[in-house]
Amino acid sequence: MATVAGPDAVRTLTVLGCDGSFPAAGGAASGYLVQSATTSLLLDAGSGTFANLQRVLAVASLDAVVLTHEHPDHWADIESLAVAGPIYKGEPIPLYCPAGIRDRSYFKHTAAFDWRTITAASGVTVGDLRLRFSRTDHGPETLAVCIATEGREDPDDLFVYSADTGPNWSPDVFGKGIGTFLCEATHLRDLEGTFQHLSGHQAGAMAKENGVRTLICTHRSPTVPADALVEEASAALGREASQAAMGKVFEW
Ligand SMILES: [Zn+2]
Ligand SMILES: [Zn+2]
Repeated sequence: MATVAGPDAVRTLTVLGCDGSFPAAGGAASGYLVQSATTSLLLDAGSGTFANLQRVLAVASLDAVVLTHEHPDHWADIESLAVAGPIYKGEPIPLYCPAGIRDRSYFKHTAAFDWRTITAASGVTVGDLRLRFSRTDHGPETLAVCIATEGREDPDDLFVYSADTGPNWSPDVFGKGIGTFLCEATHLRDLEGTFQHLSGHQAGAMAKENGVRTLICTHRSPTVPADALVEEASAALGREASQAAMGKVFEW
């Protein structure tokens, strides 16, 4: 059945993996499939996510990959895609990432990818998805990603992914009142200031300040109970926050 594109077309986020910094038993690190009616984008590719991607999408149907930064929990599985891509896709897959990742890949010279370096100033179009970026508060050059579809570019229609960040960044750079905010929340308040990551409380407060419609917490450390983290985020947000979970699908 043909999918109808248009202003009311459903846009989805499928969580392929969401564990913070390393995969839990049976889990997967960061990776998301972002889809419009006509376009499929892999956003980060942490370990375990390529196996999960194939549950929901034929590799041949993947239009592009965006990697947010060089920490391996966000890109390790492109090493598998580099092998499978030529088998299933037959043409190079556009791969957008900050400088530095390519040199870390065993397959940096592969024909599987069309490597394209991005910075915070880049603007990227993949099918009907329009991407903007913002450098976050994290160790290596890390790019938050803001995605719109053609004709739906009001803040309330946007999908924003924080990538990894500490508290000295804000989604406000993409506008106030963002529709869907996928925000890292790695640990609880007791570890604030220890790592360049956010607590559930900080993610909730950041979303509240922006006026976000839907907050989805992600990148939770396997050492942190899911209930405790989402409770903390919800308390700071002033209403219920959602939590990413492997296989979960959200509309945005
Ligand atoms: Zn990470
Ligand atoms: Zn990181």
